[in-house]
Amino acid sequence: MRPQAIVVGAGLAGSSAAERLVARGWQVDLIDRAAAPGEGASGNLVGVMRPLPSLDDNRLSRLTHAAFAFALQHFARLTAENLPLCWAPSGVLHLGRDAAHVATQQRVVEARQAAADVLRFVDREEASHLAGWPVALGGWWFPRAGWVNPASLCRANVARCGTAIRLHFGCQVAQIGEHGGLWSVRDAAGRVIAEAPVLVLANAVDARRFPVTGQLPLRSARG
Ligand SMILES: Cc1cc2nc3c(=O)[nH]c(=O)nc-3n(C[C@H](O)[C@H](O)[C@H](O)COP(=O)(O)OP(=O)(O)OC[C@H]3O[C@@H](n4cnc5c(N)ncnc54)[C@H](O)[C@@H]3O)c2cc1C
Repeated sequence: MRPQAIVVGAGLAGSSAAERLVARGWQVDLIDRAAAPGEGASGNLVGVMRPLPSLDDNRLSRLTHAAFAFALQHFARLTAENLPLCWAPSGVLHLGRDAAHVATQQRVVEARQAAADVLRFVDREEASHLAGWPVALGGWWFPRAGWVNPASLCRANVARCGTAIRLHFGCQVAQIGEHGGLWSVRDAAGRVIAEAPVLVLANAVDARRFPVTGQLPLRSARG
């Protein structure tokens, strides 16, 4: 029998977790209070997809580099399978905000020695050429990065799960509880929506609303 998990939240986090679990042979119950995937923060029309380098290659930088490399592979896979992903590897230009920032961007590129197809420093002239518009300063150019419609990525992740996923849209989880190694997820009337030995909370800051997770150090951050 397949291992089973419940995932609460069908945004970028929940739909990605569900897709990866199913790819590894799990059966997943995916629950969201909205009517479709990608209706929360992941409902923006466009997100910028690129890594975030730093001088000391800190944890956030390493995480975003790994995620960026994975996303490129994953997007190629979804596209090859004709799943409804809307994105374009247009390249991303991150302009410096002032001369000091531009100097830091240049130092980061020199220090990190990133592959030229991942990150290059471009001067004002080249940045203007790439942008097709005169810009005041140079900055970082990520040639393989691009934009993505996040809700389309959520929908493609869910579609890729096929019959290994049970979808519960329009279901608000009001209570979670664990008994004898089994997690139950219930609605406001106390009705069980799903039960499984593993529960993944991917409902963003609302994960704090449950007593058992109320102390998690979560906060919302824009962008
Ligand atoms: C204006 C803006 C611009 C951004 N730009 C970028 C960008 O350019 N690049 C980038 O990488 N990131 C960007 N971000 C950040 C990115 O959008 C978020 O980090 C990401 O979408 C979060 O995904 P998530 O799955 O964690 O949360 P969400 O997409 O919010 O998903 C949480 C889901 O949980 C559901 N839910 C919550 N509580 C319950 C419950 N009790 N029961 C059932 N379902 C529940 C919600 O309906 C929702 O669908 C931006 C964010 C904003 C707001």
